[in-house]
Amino acid sequence: KIEVSAVTKTFAVDGKALTAVDNVSFAVPAGTTHALVGESGSGKTTTIRLLLGLEEPDGGDISVAGERLTGRSHGSLRAVRRHLQLVYQNPFTSLDPTWKVEQLVREPLDRFRVGTVRERAERVREALADVGLGEHLLSRRPGALSGGQRQRVAIARSLVLKPDVIVLDEPTSALDVTVQADIVEVLLSLQASLGLTYVFVSHDLALVRQLAHTVSVMHRGRIVEHGTVTDIFDNPRQPYTVSLLDSIP
Ligand code: ATP
Repeated sequence: KIEVSAVTKTFAVDGKALTAVDNVSFAVPAGTTHALVGESGSGKTTTIRLLLGLEEPDGGDISVAGERLTGRSHGSLRAVRRHLQLVYQNPFTSLDPTWKVEQLVREPLDRFRVGTVRERAERVREALADVGLGEHLLSRRPGALSGGQRQRVAIARSLVLKPDVIVLDEPTSALDVTVQADIVEVLLSLQASLGLTYVFVSHDLALVRQLAHTVSVMHRGRIVEHGTVTDIFDNPRQPYTVSLLDSIP
């Protein structure tokens, strides 16, 4: 379970304080998916950066699987960070083109010094199988993969440390429509088999409907509405949510 309580983050921009995330709270039960939606600049990315421990909040608390992320030393934050992995938006830019698939997927294991060489190789093969990729791709470089295969590699890379939570930043927006559906299938089947918790940011409301159980609508750093997918799409309470739903095709 993820618990974000009254988290605030202010940046100094041109000598003025800009509150990017303003008293944000939400909870995500283990094994479920939470979407953050809202217009550009509403604080979604800053919220996931806080959740990942990439930014320190000015106030509030974040805990994941009962462990507090906030107020920790660098070393102990690193240990908790293992439970959370990030999948970037664009697999065309997030995977180093000079590396082979095998190295790309293994890298988090090397970084955290997990297991023996043999165990690492086994985990890499397992993670690839989890995302539906065969071993024949191990020695390919990203340039020799399709967009969908690249995003599967990026997801496999996020799985090797066996995290509880995967944070996805616009996970399908760089992909063709047909490939998007594949990635949704992969994410749903991984959640069913591994019990993963997802938090994701998206402008694609069709994707939100397909993947999310709960949704927070952000506006100017605040959560203006929070509910189940059905609440938000079929029974929005806030005028802002209504206008957001209307503005996005
Ligand atoms: P988008 O959908 O465009 O990615 P977003 O909802 O993710 O937008 P954020 O990136 O979280 O929005 O930005 C929220 C606000 O905080 C914006 O006004 C942004 O300019 C500001 N901001 C974010 N990061 C920083 C930073 N490191 N320094 C200064 N201001 C920042």
